Amino acid sequence: AKQSGRGNFREYDSSFDSSIQDRIRLEREIQLGLERNEFFLEYQPIMSTHDRTLVGYEALVRWQHPERGRVPPDQFIGIAEECGLIAQLGGWVLRRACRDAVSWKNGLNVSVNVSPIQFTTSDLPDVIKSALDDAGLEPNRLSIEITESTFLVGKQAIQILKALRALGVGIVMDDFGTGYSSLSHLRDFQFDKVKIDRSFIWDMINRPHSAAIVDAILSLGHGLGVDIVAEGIETAEQLAYLEQRSCSLVQGYFIGRPSQTIAERPRTEVMEAP
Ligand code: C2E
Ligand code: CA
Ligand code: CA
Ligand code: CA
Repeated sequence: AKQSGRGNFREYDSSFDSSIQDRIRLEREIQLGLERNEFFLEYQPIMSTHDRTLVGYEALVRWQHPERGRVPPDQFIGIAEECGLIAQLGGWVLRRACRDAVSWKNGLNVSVNVSPIQFTTSDLPDVIKSALDDAGLEPNRLSIEITESTFLVGKQAIQILKALRALGVGIVMDDFGTGYSSLSHLRDFQFDKVKIDRSFIWDMINRPHSAAIVDAILSLGHGLGVDIVAEGIETAEQLAYLEQRSCSLVQGYFIGRPSQTIAERPRTEVMEAP
């Protein structure tokens, strides 16, 4: 027992070491990646169920690493947040997305994910204003997507949100229902949209509890006069369910996958309205 205990400890110890080293290496590589332009954006279409036309695109950051290949955002956003690089990365994402949106001939909107850490310094409104001005993008074509944990950074979060609202930028509550959910956030701040996380969408057809939560968020949206966006739609059945319940906006592989060139219309299967 003693031996296996020591063995376990050594095993734990060495994996701990390597994970610290991995993190430090990854931090340095994110910094380097920013300098070497290894990050790029993909855009996933968002469709209105009213007429099944596209209304905009969500920008999703990607990292093409020279040795690691494509690193998914879940593997570097958290580290960038912890080591203080998210302000730099997030600033780059905002400037890139604004410049790209200006070049789109269809004039549709762009939605950008903003980390709670970007709310810990008060200069976010300046960062966003200069991204808009430098690109020459009208503020009403930009939305930012924030999560519920943004409210944990303190009172300045609301002040920053109000400053962004004053700029004319749209504010979307992202991943609704998964985080530090509090209905008071929806009461105290008028969001333009609320996004239902895909963890509720993916099994709502077969799991009554997920369906009940989706239904409740939709009726909350109707009551508050806030558009609800459902993300992660992968099947015609999920789309039909949401359309029947007047979910106004949808996003997911069934509508279109994230890609570097913007989709001009939803996938053809979606176009064939019932
Ligand atoms: P999110 O904001 O919830 O973004 C939606 C995620 O769902 C994206 O994953 C998207 O590719 C994926 N997705 C979209 N439709 C479907 C579908 O039909 N089925 C399935 N299974 N997945 C779908 P992705 O691109 O890997 O991004 C993961 C997360 O990383 C995002 O979740 C967001 O929280 C974060 N993220 C991405 N880009 C940025 C960024 O520029 N800044 C910040 N702060 N976070 C970002
Ligand atoms: Ca999002
Ligand atoms: Ca998210
Ligand atoms: Ca989500």
